[in-house]
Amino acid sequence: MPSINPAELLLIMMFVQQSLAIVGWMVAGRLGIAPTVPAWHWAAASAFAASAVGLAVWTQDAWLRHGLANMLIPGVFVTLRLGLQTLFRGPRHDPENLLVIVLSVGLALAGNLFQAIEPWPVWVSSVLTTFCLWRCAQVVGPLVKAELGAQSAWVVVVPLRIAALLFAARGLGAMVWPTVLGVPLAQDTPVNVTVLALLMTLGILVHLCLGVAVALRLMVRLRKLSRLDALTGLPNRRAAETMLAQMVQARRQLQRPASLLVLDVDHFKRVNDEHGHLVGDRALVHIARTLQANVRNGDSVARVGGEEFLVLLPNTTLAEATDLAERLRACLASSPLRAGSTELAMTVSIGVAELAPAETATACAERADAAMYRAKRAGRNRVEA
Ligand code: GH3
Ligand code: MG
Ligand code: MG
Repeated sequence: MPSINPAELLLIMMFVQQSLAIVGWMVAGRLGIAPTVPAWHWAAASAFAASAVGLAVWTQDAWLRHGLANMLIPGVFVTLRLGLQTLFRGPRHDPENLLVIVLSVGLALAGNLFQAIEPWPVWVSSVLTTFCLWRCAQVVGPLVKAELGAQSAWVVVVPLRIAALLFAARGLGAMVWPTVLGVPLAQDTPVNVTVLALLMTLGILVHLCLGVAVALRLMVRLRKLSRLDALTGLPNRRAAETMLAQMVQARRQLQRPASLLVLDVDHFKRVNDEHGHLVGDRALVHIARTLQANVRNGDSVARVGGEEFLVLLPNTTLAEATDLAERLRACLASSPLRAGSTELAMTVSIGVAELAPAETATACAERADAAMYRAKRAGRNRVEA
């Protein structure tokens, strides 16, 4: 049995690690655990890495084990970057990536042509990989921040920056000490063993962080979805309760007035009965849009029941809230929904309440609700405070 040196052993371990990553991302993509397109990109990135490692350890030809193996490394990070950009809705077709590929193939082939086998491939692949990783962190960083929040964005940005610095160091090292850092990785030298140990740790870190980023993104999306009403896109009852509690707290701390409106569509059952549920749904969306278009920036509209809406009005007195309620009522009554050839006029009954200094959110909401029922009893299409 041929003996294996420590560098070769590390390369074989990296090959196994990257092969497992290929299978992992493919399974995750197939089963819908990870979004399909990024998962396939990351499986491809692992395939590039496994191929590079495989060539380095199992081929004897200088061009294959050193030239081609290094040329594949920018491919790893170009596909990794494309996957990240797809996941966080960045640019899908990136001219920079194309440039990296063209340069890595062109320069590596030129190196081979001029017999500049060492350290040329290490230098070319390190410079291009550093560029690709650094730009990836720059492009994807703000997108990740926007989606996951600044606190979680480091999960993606930090490994990219670490990887960029490692490859920059490798490229610089190959220029300054070509006989130490520019040689094939399978050669058994203490420096190579260190470089391989670092690369292997980096490989594990990158895939781990990609997995965490996918999970975090899923969590953020679920949290967002759990607070949105599917039909109108407005905050739902759960979100409204949180916002109301925040308004009560702000009312207490800042000693500023705050009010709320409870709106219920009049005889909405008739809309469904006479025009069908689809038109009923469209009518609710129409009402939601009209309400949103007619409140101020700091105000919030939520759908808290089937045909029931809540409007939260910070910094608003009872008189101002009543005025707004009257405007909303008039606006809705005069903006019918066009359904085919008919115009569907709808009215709402509105209850208004101003938050008393020590009042709880529930007590105030109950008062507004009671006012709304008074408006119903008084004949509908009206405002009661
Ligand atoms: P009132 O003036 O007393 O409020 O009469 P109403 O008909 O509006 O009140 P009621 O509570 O009897 O009926 C509410 C209707 O709203 C019944 C329900 O089918 C309808 N509804 C609730 N949610 C939805 C929805 O998401 N889509 C549609 N199309 N209809 C809905
Ligand atoms: Mg109702
Ligand atoms: Mg109703």
